[in-house]
Amino acid sequence: MDRIVVLGGGESGTGAAVLAKVKGFEVFLSDMARIGETHKSMLDQYGIEYEEGGHTPEKILNASCIIKSPGIPETAPLVKEAYARGIDVISEIEFAGRYDNSKKICITGSNGKTTTTTLIYYLLQKAGMDAGLGGNIGKSYALQVATEHHDIYVLEISSFQLDGMYDFKADIAVLLNITPDHLDRYGHDMQNYINAKFRITQNMSADDCFIFCSDDEVTVGALQKIVVKAKQLPITQTEEVDEGAFLNDNIMVVHYGDSSYEMDINELRIEGRHNVYNSMAAALTGKIMNISNSVIREALSSFTGVEHRLERVLSIKDVMYINDSKATNVNSTWYALESMKTPVVLILGGTDKGNDYSAIYDLVMKKVRAIVCLGVDNRKIHECFEDKVDVMVDTLSAEEAVQAASKLAKPGDTVLLSPCCASFDLFKNYEDRGRQFKDAVRKL
Ligand code: ADP
Repeated sequence: MDRIVVLGGGESGTGAAVLAKVKGFEVFLSDMARIGETHKSMLDQYGIEYEEGGHTPEKILNASCIIKSPGIPETAPLVKEAYARGIDVISEIEFAGRYDNSKKICITGSNGKTTTTTLIYYLLQKAGMDAGLGGNIGKSYALQVATEHHDIYVLEISSFQLDGMYDFKADIAVLLNITPDHLDRYGHDMQNYINAKFRITQNMSADDCFIFCSDDEVTVGALQKIVVKAKQLPITQTEEVDEGAFLNDNIMVVHYGDSSYEMDINELRIEGRHNVYNSMAAALTGKIMNISNSVIREALSSFTGVEHRLERVLSIKDVMYINDSKATNVNSTWYALESMKTPVVLILGGTDKGNDYSAIYDLVMKKVRAIVCLGVDNRKIHECFEDKVDVMVDTLSAEEAVQAASKLAKPGDTVLLSPCCASFDLFKNYEDRGRQFKDAVRKL
């Protein structure tokens, strides 16, 4: 019997192990760290052997195939050794795709994946379709393939998942944008990261659809070199296109085949220019899936967005507090600032992933009244912004940051947590940062 070893016992790894077991493989799962209780009990329930707190190489390198969780880098010694021995190393999505004939709508990009994936899933549900939601979000795709059936899957796919994908084919692929992120995992070479993102189009045929942002120079540049067989459908806010989605003043226009859809972008519940792109991708997917215009309109005008992404918390003394804790890179903060209609007190900082802040200089000078730094080491932020705002203060907790911001804000202002940085210096993760921010706002 073929032996499959799963590296990583999180949501994707546990789901992959269950699927492998259900399909009759000999399965072993190994995790460097502790495995959570829910995942352990699932492994027990399916009689899957596992280890935690370290890897035993001889129990791993005898596999015919290794399913690697996306968090484990290609450079991990055990992974390198597996490659050297010619063992197939694949991702959970690749593995699950082998056993799934459903229609697959896959969303990738540097920013906007979760929002767009959730929105498309919401749209399909409104249309009464039987869809599953998976990938980097919610319940493992592999687990769903093992234990339930859906006609369609909407999958959020990160570049790390894409790295381990070879034969998987999407029916509709959405590539939202490509901006520098995670370059440490790509040998600090942007081209490697671009290539990873474009794996979303591999194996697609002329019957499939590829939705991409034609305002994104990196994507457009790559499309000149990479052959994509799928039908190419651009979304754009700068030009008119025959097929795809574009803006005519404030009207979003979508054309697909013989049908079209129009909607005033002021009817969208989610705000900001980036969310116009996300909504265009969803509307276009709706058209491809033959969903009626009235359902598309109902979905786009009622979708309220996802927690920690430009999430309105409260208005206190005429100051609006917004939680955009998921903005962990400069590009997402750019879109947050761009969408602000009032003066802003900006809470910025955390673990810097090699940020080039110059992209937001203009917006900061135009809109930001004061910067509240929320991080252990704020030197770079001071150096970059000292001459661009009048006031900068340092804080070391969400509560301190919110209090400082509330003193600096004037009636009519917005306090925006959109930190440009990862959260690991002071918080468990971005969700923890966002929740602590919201708790602090509620205490004001
Ligand atoms: P991802 O899953 O790719 O990280 P999210 O939907 O979680 O994307 O959003 C992450 C951050 O990026 C949030 O701050 C959000 O406001 C911002 N964002 C959302 N969509 C886009 C987009 N299309 N382009 C740029 N930034 C975006």
